[in-house]
Amino acid sequence: MTITTNNPFTGKDLKNYKQLNKAQVEKQLKDSASAYKTWSGTQVEERINIIKKVAEILEIGKEKYARLMSNEMGKPITEAIAEVEKCATLCNYYSANAADFLKDEIIETEATKSFVRYAPIGTVLAVMPWNYPFWQVFRFAIPTLLAGNTALLKHASNVLGSGDAIQKIFKQAGLPKDVFTHIIVDYKALAQVLAHDSVQAVSLTGSEAAGASMAEIAGKNLKRCVLELGGSNAVIICEDADIDDSVQVAIKARMQNTGQSCIAGKRFLIHEKVYEEFLTKFTAAVGELVLGNPLHRETQVGPMAKKELADELQRQIKKSLKKGAKIIYGGKSVGAYHEPTILINVKPGMEAFDEETFGPVAVFVKIKTVEEGFELAAKSRFGLGLTICTRDTKKALTYCNLVEDGSYFINEKVTSDPRLPFGGTKKSGYGRELSKAGIHEFVNKQTVYVK
Ligand code: NAP
Repeated sequence: MTITTNNPFTGKDLKNYKQLNKAQVEKQLKDSASAYKTWSGTQVEERINIIKKVAEILEIGKEKYARLMSNEMGKPITEAIAEVEKCATLCNYYSANAADFLKDEIIETEATKSFVRYAPIGTVLAVMPWNYPFWQVFRFAIPTLLAGNTALLKHASNVLGSGDAIQKIFKQAGLPKDVFTHIIVDYKALAQVLAHDSVQAVSLTGSEAAGASMAEIAGKNLKRCVLELGGSNAVIICEDADIDDSVQVAIKARMQNTGQSCIAGKRFLIHEKVYEEFLTKFTAAVGELVLGNPLHRETQVGPMAKKELADELQRQIKKSLKKGAKIIYGGKSVGAYHEPTILINVKPGMEAFDEETFGPVAVFVKIKTVEEGFELAAKSRFGLGLTICTRDTKKALTYCNLVEDGSYFINEKVTSDPRLPFGGTKKSGYGRELSKAGIHEFVNKQTVYVK
């Protein structure tokens, strides 16, 4: 069986990839297990030296890797370059901190000595999406490998070139064979992988359906599981917000990556006193966005990664219109392109409110009070993050306990940062990536006790 990748901008096929058969998967599982025996015994400093080289290779090759991503999934090239740079930053962050995060933690008891050791666990499977083809993989792989684990990557079927490129980067940096391996398989083959004795855990970033399916297999096999799933972040605009700044935050929050981001601001809940001004300025800013060829540096909104994604947005818009929503900007779609779109009069019960809109569609709701904003924000099955825009940051901090999500950003779009834990609540998944919390997801927190 082969998989063919396709350029969503040109519509042309890019490359054919052969899928591994069952026997090849079984061999790779054994090879990863055998590599684990050596890799887990290396000193963390040795691992860090390799990850530092990975950062250098990313920096040197950023234009090349960015073009690959843009061709595979239509990401605007300047965003793709920034993504590669962010991966290098992540490598440097963990290179500087991994030894500290993994050092023994002394805990005083009546023992002569008692402490926690952060030991590796084995091979960890990663199932990754196409929307940030490099970043999603690196934010999983770097802490996981530094902790002494080996990793198997099943990348999304439309970005297999990115998966191969990442494996090559690790090889070039000197990572021993089979410590990080890109396996090209149908996701149906993942039950075999996760059931294998040498595979101890899975990290999946993707849709709710894919997460639920992998969690079921992990549960059946008693394997650890981290899930980073969908989101429908709310952005609350208070009556005292700096409207010009808020519009900038909102545009970036919604339109980054052509709207295909889990942490994008998707539902804008705007105080009635500033609603008209915000809407007018936001609409003007959307009108200034440059649409076009993702390889052109001026392009800010490219095609979506696949035509089906644009079709899905059209379904959500049409159904919401029937229930009373109104388009005031954009609304059309051609092939994989979807116009940046603004929908007003949106309410709970409409697809544009209840479901994740994975594309450049901003949904506007008028609110009378901030409290109503928080109530509406929580009326979502998802819980990745929430943004509030206000001049009164002191008051905004008192609202922390009204937020059900994994993160709360004041006057900034929700963003991932190597230094801060990242993850969701509710149907957005569980577990954390990045920071100290991320490197501690796939370790054996081993208690050592000396009488
Ligand atoms: P997806 O269809 O769930 O695919 C993600 C990965 O899971 C791909 O490798 C896919 O393989 C695989 N997969 C699909 N169905 C599966 C199943 N039943 N069992 C096991 N694996 C399965 O998601 P996507 O369309 O690529 O990505 C968009 C979704 O990811 C959005 O909901 C977005 O919000 C979410 N996301 C979340 C985060 C986060 O950090 N929380 C970050 C980015 C994206 P194939 O490609 O071969 O189908």
